[in-house]
Amino acid sequence: MPCRFGIVRILGPSYALRCVVFHNISATESPFTKGMGVNVTPSDFEAALRFLTRYYTPVCLQDVLEDPAGRGFPPRPILVTFDDGYASIMEWAAPLCGRLGVPAIVFLNAAFLDNAGLAPDNLVCYAANVLGIETINAAVRVVKGADSPKLQCLAEVFSRFFPSISLPERKVFLDALAHLGGINERQLAREAGLYLTRKEVCQLAASDFEIGNHTYTHVHCRSLSPEDIGEEVDRNRAELESLSGKKVRSFSVPYGSSADLRTDLVSHLRRSGHEAIFLSESVANTRGLDRWQVDRVSTHAGSNDGLFLDIEVLPRLRAIRDRLFRSAQSGAKGHGNGLAHECPVGEQRN
Ligand SMILES: [Zn+2]
Repeated sequence: MPCRFGIVRILGPSYALRCVVFHNISATESPFTKGMGVNVTPSDFEAALRFLTRYYTPVCLQDVLEDPAGRGFPPRPILVTFDDGYASIMEWAAPLCGRLGVPAIVFLNAAFLDNAGLAPDNLVCYAANVLGIETINAAVRVVKGADSPKLQCLAEVFSRFFPSISLPERKVFLDALAHLGGINERQLAREAGLYLTRKEVCQLAASDFEIGNHTYTHVHCRSLSPEDIGEEVDRNRAELESLSGKKVRSFSVPYGSSADLRTDLVSHLRRSGHEAIFLSESVANTRGLDRWQVDRVSTHAGSNDGLFLDIEVLPRLRAIRDRLFRSAQSGAKGHGNGLAHECPVGEQRN
């Protein structure tokens, strides 16, 4: 394996910071996550963490903020993150990270803590798995009208439908979905127990887990109005800071796409005290790390070969692809160019 790290550098470019993102850790798929691509099994998660601690040097957000150019980083620095606040972070990740000495950032949506409600993605996933895609299409028609094109699968809800609607339209859709499906969302959320409790967030914040912002209700940021940005970004940050007693310094873009990283959002995040922004397009962070656009690799691999491919090989190839694309476009920005890595539905979801 050490030889491989030398060989893969032939691909270039040099890697400034490796960053990985996990979501839910579960041995089985539930109707709330099946088809979203967010699950990793406990055994694969442990294999991944052992791979990371054997071949890399775990770093924390503070290390990155203190040395944004990465000149003083240890060999093969890696930053571990978790998105969406699944309860499994407390059950599986926190104990193992503690034992192996791995600090992490956990990016949360405050609206769903204590299982006060279901994240839109989990509600849609549940509806697709239990009621079928036709129920979702019926709710889509309430928002888009009778002539709206039919969605064929769950992935299209996240990749096509959600990015095309405003926050108020999403609420109409979710209300219609609950009504058409006979779903009592609050009761279902309580029964499912998918997410962390507020008490657990406090416990994580008191350990080596830093709390990060992931919007209040997990939204596609491209559809936010200026008022929405205040509600989704500032409210979430304020609640998480109040809860944890610590400053929220980082923001992870829901669904992970650079297409959602609008200029006005970046300006707002910088003005409001955030110090780093994270994406999930699984592209290598090359030399001259930009802390306002740190990319993360989403991996579900449980073998050394799979993890090496996901973390070392494919992100470099995507970085080369993006660089060639930008050259071909004569300096045009590469974001939202259709070549973006297709993350798991969750992040692309994320
Ligand atoms: Zn997310």
